[in-house]
Amino acid sequence: MACECRPPCFYPFIDIAMEKRKRYAVVLAGGSGLRAGGDVPKQFADLCGLPVLWWSVKAFHQADPDTRIRIVMHPGFFDLWDVLYSGMPEEEKEFDYDLVCGGRNRLESVKNGIAGIEEEDALIAVHDSARPLVDTSLILRGWKRGEATGAAVPVVAMTDSIRMLLPDGSQPLERSRYVRVQTPQVFEAGLLKRSYDAPLSPAMTDDASVVEAAGARVELYEGSERNMKITHPDDLLIASVLMRKR
Ligand code: C5P
Repeated sequence: MACECRPPCFYPFIDIAMEKRKRYAVVLAGGSGLRAGGDVPKQFADLCGLPVLWWSVKAFHQADPDTRIRIVMHPGFFDLWDVLYSGMPEEEKEFDYDLVCGGRNRLESVKNGIAGIEEEDALIAVHDSARPLVDTSLILRGWKRGEATGAAVPVVAMTDSIRMLLPDGSQPLERSRYVRVQTPQVFEAGLLKRSYDAPLSPAMTDDASVVEAAGARVELYEGSERNMKITHPDDLLIASVLMRKR
C-alpha cells in the first residue's frame, strides 16, 4: 500500500529499525543429578509421557517459534537421548534444535551453550531443564524484561522462615529481604559472553552471579511458584500433578 505521508524509499529503514532481535534458548540438561531418584538423571525421566527436558524445549518453542533452541547435554547421554527422542510422538518433533556438549559443571555447560552466538545484540535465555513447568507467560515476561534491561532474572518470595548457619549455631534472617532465584535468566548475548569469558568461581551458582561479578546490574522480574525445580524424588510426582492441571 502506498504511504501518503512519506516517500516509499523510507520503508527499508523503518523495517530495519523494527527488526526483531534474535532469541536463543539455552536449555541446560548437562547435569548428572540422581537426587530425584531413578537410574537416569532427572532431565531424562518421564513426566506425563515426555522426557522432563522436552517440556522446557517445547515451552520456548510455543512462546516464540522463532527462538533458536540449544540443548546442552553430556555426550555420555547422547545415545540415551536418541532413544528417548525416537520414542516421542511425531507431532512433538515439528521444530529443530541443536545439541551441544555439556561441561563438568553448570558454568562450563552454559559457556558451551552460548559459544558461537555471534550477534552481540541477540537475547539469550538460559534455562535449567529441571524446571519443566516453565510456561509461555513466564517466558514472554523474561524476553520482555531482558530486552528492556539486558539482564533479567525471575524471582519468587520466600515463604519459609530462614536462618543463617554460623560456626556456633544459627541466627534468624529477615525473610522479606530475600527472594528465591529461578530460570529463565535472560541476557544480551554480548554481555553474557563477556561475563563468561571473565574468571569464574564455583560460588557462582547461576548466570546472574556471573554477570554481576563482571560488573553489570541485574534486574529482577516476577517468577512463578509453579516453575519448581525437580530435585528430590517427590518433586517428579508434584510436577506431574501440576502438569496435568494446566
Ligand atoms: O544440579 P542443579 O539442579 O543445580 O543443576 C541446574 C541445571 O544445570 C540443571 O538443569 C542441570 O542439568 C544443569 N547442569 C548442566 N551441566 C552440568 C551440571 C548441571 O547443564 N555439568
